[in-house]
Amino acid sequence: MSSSRYFALIPAAGIGARLGADIPKQYMPLAGRPMLAHVLTTFAAASVISHVFVVVSGDDGYIDELMAAAPHLQGRVSVLFNGGPSRRESVLNGLQAIRPLVGDDDWILVHDAARPGLTGGLIEHLIETLQDDPVGGLLALPVVDTLKRSDQQARVQQTVERTALWAAQTPQMFRYSLLLRALMRALALAEAVTDEAGAVELLGLQPRLVEGSPRNFKVTLPHDVALAEMFLKEES
Ligand code: C5P
Repeated sequence: MSSSRYFALIPAAGIGARLGADIPKQYMPLAGRPMLAHVLTTFAAASVISHVFVVVSGDDGYIDELMAAAPHLQGRVSVLFNGGPSRRESVLNGLQAIRPLVGDDDWILVHDAARPGLTGGLIEHLIETLQDDPVGGLLALPVVDTLKRSDQQARVQQTVERTALWAAQTPQMFRYSLLLRALMRALALAEAVTDEAGAVELLGLQPRLVEGSPRNFKVTLPHDVALAEMFLKEES
């Protein structure tokens, strides 16, 4: 293994409007704990991860209670209260805040708080596959369904060839300096990138796709909650 270290950066400053709950999605209880607590616990327990940073909004009213209830996270997780108006800006703000603590070549694993199904095994698989990669990459799943592009009236406009299509997940893992440069450039160009890989692609680089797992899906809609709980209970 190379001498670079591995850090987790968890953007958790969203509100999760599509879930329709009265608390931000990342704090919704899942299998007895807030969604974010599952993610933080998984990273904190992974010995390959040097430290975990979580980015919340400046007026977050939930994280202190979460941390107080989780002594196992003390010393392993730092909270940054500098979330931005979009996921991308939350990640960028987090990267800028940790600048004095990480090296240019250290790896940053950016992971959505809304993917509580991540396991230590998936983190290890990602790191083992990418530790010597010149670019970095992300967990993703090959698309198995036939894909349709619709018009405004929900009528099929086109069937999209699914061969070689993958659905992006997180963690997305890139070296600190490359990721910072990519995200700053994407922001300056006002490009509509929605993940770290998209920003790195704008530099003309090709992130590597590493097969993830269906259990690492993003909790987005109300019916996703029961499915996430099923996966989380399976683990215990
Ligand atoms: O809303 P969505 O599920 O796409 O958000 C993905 C992740 O980005 C979540 O962990 C969410 O908390 C985070 N996010 C953020 N800052 C925002 C919007 C979303 O950190 N302004």
